[in-house]
Amino acid sequence: MQIAELLAVNARKYPDHEAIITPDSRHTWRQLHQQSLKLAGYLRQHYNINPGDRVALFMTNSYPWVLSYFAVINLGAILVPINARLSGEELGYILGDCQARLLLSSEQQASILASSTARCPTLLLDTADSMLSSTRDDFKPPAIQPQDACTLLYTSGTTGRPKGVLFNHLNILTVATTTAVEMGVNHNSRLLHMMPLTHSAPVHVFLLGGTLVGACHVVLSEFRPDLLLDWVERERTTHFFGAPVAFLLTAAQPDIGQRDLSSMQAWIYGGAPLSSEQIGKVSQAFGSNQFYCVYGLTEAGPSGTLLDPMEHSEKAGSIGKRGALHTEIRLVDEQLKDITDDRVGEILIRSEAMMQGYWNNPQATADCLTEDGWLHSGDLARRDAEGYLWVVGRKKDLIISGGVNIYPREIEALLEQHPAIVEVAVIGVPHEQWGETVKACVVLRQPLTNLAGELRHYLESRLADYKIPRLYQLCEALPRNANGKVMKHKLS
Ligand code: AMP
Ligand code: MG
Repeated sequence: MQIAELLAVNARKYPDHEAIITPDSRHTWRQLHQQSLKLAGYLRQHYNINPGDRVALFMTNSYPWVLSYFAVINLGAILVPINARLSGEELGYILGDCQARLLLSSEQQASILASSTARCPTLLLDTADSMLSSTRDDFKPPAIQPQDACTLLYTSGTTGRPKGVLFNHLNILTVATTTAVEMGVNHNSRLLHMMPLTHSAPVHVFLLGGTLVGACHVVLSEFRPDLLLDWVERERTTHFFGAPVAFLLTAAQPDIGQRDLSSMQAWIYGGAPLSSEQIGKVSQAFGSNQFYCVYGLTEAGPSGTLLDPMEHSEKAGSIGKRGALHTEIRLVDEQLKDITDDRVGEILIRSEAMMQGYWNNPQATADCLTEDGWLHSGDLARRDAEGYLWVVGRKKDLIISGGVNIYPREIEALLEQHPAIVEVAVIGVPHEQWGETVKACVVLRQPLTNLAGELRHYLESRLADYKIPRLYQLCEALPRNANGKVMKHKLS
C-alpha cells in the first residue's frame, strides 16, 4: 500500500462524500483523486519530476496544499512541506539543503519568495483548478513500495538549524492507523484542521489518519479562537487537533458559553502539556471531557504516548503510561538501563513510524537512534506510582545549579497556576558560583507591584528553595516558533 492509493480507495468507496472543505472550496473524494492524478501528470510532463526528486511545498493550508501533497507522493517523489511563515532566508536554507527540483507555492507567498535568494523553479498553484482542466488525464503512477521515501519534514528548530526528517509510506500509514483506532475516526468524522500541515502531527496524525478512513477534512489556513468556534458550528466538526495554547485561547473567548460545540467528539492536543488546572478550565468552557493528549516528536513519526479521556480525570498533565498503538516506550538512565522507580530518565521510543533518518546527516541520525532502533527523545520524564509518565523538561533545557538537576517543567507548572500569570518559561542562566541559576520569564494577565517578591512568596510553600527562580523577567509574550513552541534559546 502506498499513500496516494488512499485517494483511489476513498474515491471508490465514498465518491460523492466531501473530502476537503476550505473557506473557498468544497471537493469530494472523486474530485480530489482525479485532480491529484492530473497534477501528478502535469508535474511529470512540464517539470520531468521523477521518483526520488524533492519537490518543496510552500503555502498555507489550503486545497492546493492537500492536492499537491498527494500528487507529488504519487510521482514517487519526495514532498518537502515548508512552513509558510518562514522567512526567505529560512526557505532558501531548506531548498538548498534538500536540493529541491521544484517549488510549489502561491501568490500569497510572493513577498517571501522575492526575498529568498534560492534558485529553484517555482510553480504557483492558485489557479490549480483551471490549470488542471486542460491537462491530459493519462497519468500512470510508478510502482511504489511501502519502504520508499515519500516526505521530508524539517523540524521546527527550537534548538538550531532545522534538520530534514525523512519518512517512508509505511511510517506515515502506521501513524495514521494509530489515530483512526485510538481516536475513533471514521468515514463520518469531520476533522477541523487549523495547525500548519507542514508539521508531523497535523499531517500524519490528523490529515492522513482521517484520509485512511475517508473522513472529511475542514481545512483552515490559520488558527484563531473565534474561527475555531465558528467552524465547529458551521461544519459540525467532530475532531480538532491543536497546540495547548489554542485550547487556552479558545476557552477564554467571551462568547464560548453561547456556542454550540455539541458535534465535537474529540479534542486532541499535543506538543506541550495542559495541566490538570488548565484542563479543568478548558473542559468547563468547552462543555466536554473528551480530551486526548498525544506526546511524540517529529523524528518518531510523531508516534509516542497517549493520554485518553478516561485517564484525564486523574492524570491530566501526564503523557500517559503506555505507547500508542504500534509504539514501544522506555524510560532509561544515562547507562540506558530501564528505570523502575521514581527517578527522572530519558524517554526512548521505538515503532514502525520512526523516521528513516535525518536528510544527509548520518552523524545526527546515529546520535539519536540506537543500534536496535530506539530513538532518543531528548525528553526527561518521571514515572509515578501508577506508571504514568510526567515530562519534566528536555535534556537540553535541564538546569544544573550547584551540581543539582532542576527540571523547568516542574516550576513552570506551579507558576502557571498563579492567577496573575498567563504563560511562563523557566530557563537556566549562567552564574559564576552555581554554574547556572534559575530564571522565570513570565507573561502577566494583570500587573504585580513586586513581581519577584510576590512570585517568590508564592513558590516558597510549594517548592524546595534551590528550585525557586532567583531572577524574574516580565515579557510581552514568549518567543514561539512557527509551530507555537516556545524557543527557549531566544530567552536569556
Ligand atoms: P517536534 O519535534 O517539533 O514535534 O517537538 C517534539 C517535542 O515536543 C518533544 O520532544 C517534547 O519535548 C515536546 N512534546 C510533544 N508532545 C508533548 C506533550 N504531550 N507533553 C509535553 N511535551 C510534549
Ligand atoms: Mg524536535
